Amino acid sequence: MTAAAAHDHRLAVDAEDFAQIHQLVHDFIRTKVVPREAEIMQTNEIPSDLRAQAAEMGLFGYAIPQEWGGLGLDLTQDVELAMEFGYTSLALRSMFGTNNGIAGQVLVNFGTDEQKKQWLEGIASGEVVASFALTEPGAGSNPAGLRTKAVRDGDEWVIDGQKRFITNAPIADLFVVFARTRPADESGTGIAVFLVPADTPGVEVGPKDSKMGQEGAWTADVTFDGVRVPASALVGGDEEKGYKAAMTSLARGRVHIAALSVGQAQRALDESVAYAASATQGGKPIGTFQLVQAMLADQQTGVMAGRALVRDAAAKYVSGEDRRTAPSAAKLFCTEMVGKVADLAVQIHGGTGYMREVPVERIYRDVRLLRLYEGTSEIQRLIIGGNLIRAASTHS
Ligand SMILES: Cc1cc2nc3c(=O)[nH]c(=O)nc-3n(C[C@H](O)[C@H](O)[C@H](O)COP(=O)(O)OP(=O)(O)OC[C@H]3O[C@@H](n4cnc5c(N)ncnc54)[C@H](O)[C@@H]3O)c2cc1C
Repeated sequence: MTAAAAHDHRLAVDAEDFAQIHQLVHDFIRTKVVPREAEIMQTNEIPSDLRAQAAEMGLFGYAIPQEWGGLGLDLTQDVELAMEFGYTSLALRSMFGTNNGIAGQVLVNFGTDEQKKQWLEGIASGEVVASFALTEPGAGSNPAGLRTKAVRDGDEWVIDGQKRFITNAPIADLFVVFARTRPADESGTGIAVFLVPADTPGVEVGPKDSKMGQEGAWTADVTFDGVRVPASALVGGDEEKGYKAAMTSLARGRVHIAALSVGQAQRALDESVAYAASATQGGKPIGTFQLVQAMLADQQTGVMAGRALVRDAAAKYVSGEDRRTAPSAAKLFCTEMVGKVADLAVQIHGGTGYMREVPVERIYRDVRLLRLYEGTSEIQRLIIGGNLIRAASTHS
C-alpha cells in the first residue's frame, strides 16, 4: 500500500457505520427522490427540500475527510453510494457531485492546510458549491492545450480566459480554475489551478446550457476577464500542480461515474422487468417471449459485470495497486454498458419507451452524457492502451 493509500485508509468509516449510511441513502433515494423524478424533469430543478435533506445527511461532503467536516468515505464506499444515486434522476448526484468529486478532491489532495481550512467545511456542508473549471472551447479531451492565462502581478494573479460546459456554474460559490502560467515545455504543461470565489469582479457566468438530458443539473460557460485573486489562491502554493491535480481528480471520478452507470443500468433493468411482466400482446405478457427475455438477460449480465468491475477498480484504487488503468477500464465498460442497457430498456417498452415521463425515456437521454464527460470513451481507450504499451516497453 502506498503512503497516500494508507492515509486514505486511516480515514475510512468502519463497516458498521457505513452500513447505516448506506441504508439511509438507499431509503432516501427510493422513498424521497424516485417519486419526485417527473417534477425534477419538468421544473429542471432539484426541489429545495430534497437539497436540504441531502445536505442534512452529509451528502455534499461524503468523500471529504472527517477532519474537514465530511463523512470521510473512501472510494470503495463512495461507489456503493454512487450505485444508489444512480438509481434515480442523475441530476441529484450532480448537485453534490462536484463538491465531493472533481472540484473538492483538488483541494483535499493538493490544497494547503490554509486553503482546506478556508473552504472544505463549507463544501462538505453544502453551504459552498464548488465547480471544476477545466474545459474550454478547443481544450476538452486535450486539457493540456488550455488557453486561460494566469499572470503574476505583485501579490496577485490576474486570470483571463473562457471555460465551457461547467457543471454547477450557475449556482457556484467557488470555481476551481485551471490556467496556464507559462507555455508548456519539456518540464511540464505549465498549468496551475486557482481558487476563485464566484463573486470576484470579472467572473461572469453565462446562461444555463440547454441540454439533451439530466434536467435539474446545470452547466454554463464561465468567463474570466482580468480576474484578480491573491497569491494565496494558487492551489498548493505551487504553479506546477495544476495538471496533476486535474488528472488525479478525474481518475478518481471515473470510478465514481462507472458506479453511477451501474446504478442507472440497474434501474433500467428493473423498469424493463416490471414492464415485461405486466404489459401484454395477444393476451400474453411480453416477458414470456424469449426474444424479450434475451434482452433482459443481456441487461442483467451487463449490470452484474459492471458492478463487479466497479468494486474491483475501487478496491485497487484505495490500496494503491492501480490508479491509472482500472479507473479508465471501469468508466469505459460501465458507461458503454449503461448506454446499451438503456437502449434495450426503450426497446422492451416498445412505443411506450419513446414517450416523455416514462422513466426509461429519461434514462436513455441521461446516460448519454456518461460516455462524454470526465474523458470520452475514446480517451479512456487511449489511456488504457497507452499504459499497457508503456508498461511493456519499460519491462522489455
Ligand atoms: C453536461 C456536461 C457537463 C460537463 N461538466 C464539466 C465540468 O464540470 N468541468 C469541466 O471542466 N468540463 C465539463 N464538461 C466538459 C467535458 O469533460 C468535455 O465535453 C469532454 O471532455 C469532451 O471534450 P470536448 O467536448 O471538447 O470534445 P472533443 O474533445 O472535441 O471530442 C470530440 C470527439 O473527438 C474525440 N477525440 C478527441 N481527442 C481525441 C484523440 N486524441 N483521439 C481520438 N479521439 C479524440 C472525442 O472522443 C470525441 O468523440 C462537461 C460536459 C458536459 C456535456
